[in-house]
Amino acid sequence: MRVTVLAGGVGGARFVKGLRDAVEDADEITVVVNTGDDLWLSGVRLQPDIDSILYALAGVNDTERGWGRAGESERVSAELQAWGAGWPWFTLGDLDLGTHLARTGWLRDGLAPSQVAERLGARWPIGVRLLPMTDTEVDTHVVVEDGTRMHFQEWWTRHRASLRATAFESPGIADARPAPGVVEAIEEADVVVLAPSNPVVSIGPILAVPGVREALGRARRVVGVSPIIGGKVVRGMADACLAAIGVKTAADAVARHYGRRAEGGVLDTWLVAEEDAALAPGLEAEGWDVRVEPLWMTDPERSATLARAALRP
Ligand code: GDP
Ligand code: CA
Repeated sequence: MRVTVLAGGVGGARFVKGLRDAVEDADEITVVVNTGDDLWLSGVRLQPDIDSILYALAGVNDTERGWGRAGESERVSAELQAWGAGWPWFTLGDLDLGTHLARTGWLRDGLAPSQVAERLGARWPIGVRLLPMTDTEVDTHVVVEDGTRMHFQEWWTRHRASLRATAFESPGIADARPAPGVVEAIEEADVVVLAPSNPVVSIGPILAVPGVREALGRARRVVGVSPIIGGKVVRGMADACLAAIGVKTAADAVARHYGRRAEGGVLDTWLVAEEDAALAPGLEAEGWDVRVEPLWMTDPERSATLARAALRP
């Protein structure tokens, strides 16, 4: 079975790990990863969502902290701070910096981000193909209440999403193209899954790459997993993002935001948590195929069970 997942970082990584355990031939999994979180910092290119998925699948991620590499140290970051270089509130781990240096070197050698992702994915037997959504640099910016505009990472990490956002923008995205293989991976998959990732800043940018929505329109089947359980975001601050685009933090509101393919949206099927079972009839009345499933990915087994539910015809 060929499965293509559209994903952000941590929520995406948990889901993809479960999916790898759930399908027999993991080589048939392609993950199209958000690159809206990417940035240049101290001369290196960071791709937080690609790295989150890479580290999780390789089993070298820090499971305690929830991000970055296990056994990380921060000697280089301390030196950068002493120099007044980079962002003092954005720590780069030493092992993580190794990834960024390798990536930046390959980019400087002329490789496209999709070729770099292939090299990064070849170090460990991760068992899936990682594709950035686009090879074009389209970093997400946030406009906050007083009109100030900043990189998404500054809003998210420095301000912990506490400044009220009024808009998310991806400068240049109208001219971006899906990375080589993205459209084919969507069109040729037996199932495309929208991971339980941040709908606004993880899945949103992927859907905004010209050609991706059209490819989803031609896909065999598109299933989405709600990142909202019981009216709350599970980990992180996605509610601050949803509020900015006027979408309620609720599983049914996110479904309507994505929309049904039959009505110009992107989904056929929507998985909601058992805690949100009461929302199913309302969606069903609108024509949705809703499945009520356990959506907590608290361990690999639960993640695999969720992945199996997403693949069920
Ligand atoms: P990020 O790029 O690291 O922020 O990660 P993603 O965008 O991939 O995922 C963030 C979203 O994952 C959050 O908004 C959560 O609501 C969702 N999420 C995290 N853990 C779980 C879980 O166990 N189950 C479900 N259904 N959603 C989750
Ligand atoms: Ca992210």
